[in-house]
Amino acid sequence: MRPVIGITANSIIAENTYFPGSERSCVNVEYIQAVVAAGGTPIVLPVINNQTAIHRQAQIIDGLLVTGGFDIHPLLYGEEPFERLEFIDPDRDNHEIELVTMAHGLNKPIFGICRGIQLINVAFGGSLYQDISQSPGSYIKHMQKSKREVAGHTVEIMKNSRLYEVFGEFVVANSFHHQAVKEVAAGFMVNALSKDGIIEGIEKAGANFVVAVQWHPEHMIYRYPVMLNLFKRFVTEAAKWQQQSLLP
Ligand code: MN
Repeated sequence: MRPVIGITANSIIAENTYFPGSERSCVNVEYIQAVVAAGGTPIVLPVINNQTAIHRQAQIIDGLLVTGGFDIHPLLYGEEPFERLEFIDPDRDNHEIELVTMAHGLNKPIFGICRGIQLINVAFGGSLYQDISQSPGSYIKHMQKSKREVAGHTVEIMKNSRLYEVFGEFVVANSFHHQAVKEVAAGFMVNALSKDGIIEGIEKAGANFVVAVQWHPEHMIYRYPVMLNLFKRFVTEAAKWQQQSLLP
């Protein structure tokens, strides 16, 4: 059975609609397509703030995909907003932190992309650079202007990581972020770095699959099939969880 992958939604104000200005809880189709191509059953988890309903969202999925989006409220990691902070949405922050906490408590696999790596790091007690210009020695363009599937910069992958099993020693990734992980959450290891020392991936030590990357593999799966392998790895973990949950 195709495992159910919950994809966290972004709240946006939609203009191209019968009801201009309406708020929508939705995801980019590339996440959906990548989950289907990797063998999963995608469902969208809309942004809600009812604790019991969030718990049910975490219960009905076999794996959690934490998606890209805007900035995370810096108060959540003990900082005041700096000048270069961009749009924040505390409702989405709270929803996703609850989901990550609950899904992890149920030992379900979690995969984070872009904002997702930042959210997971903050949810487990880490911090962020509110803007990459704060990172000492940064010189690479991490907010590329080219097409989304274009591989922008090199990423070095750490040995003895789950990411290494998928990519080997390095991969070339797209880059659409102005923030990055600063202090890594306790219990996590860095599994990927750019040449200027920006953290491009983290994963949790131990048995549970909690892996996150700073780039957008969902936009690269057709031109670079290795990027689909990362989704397949995650969906395989979700299938394992599903099989185990169906045992009598
Ligand atoms: Mn980057």
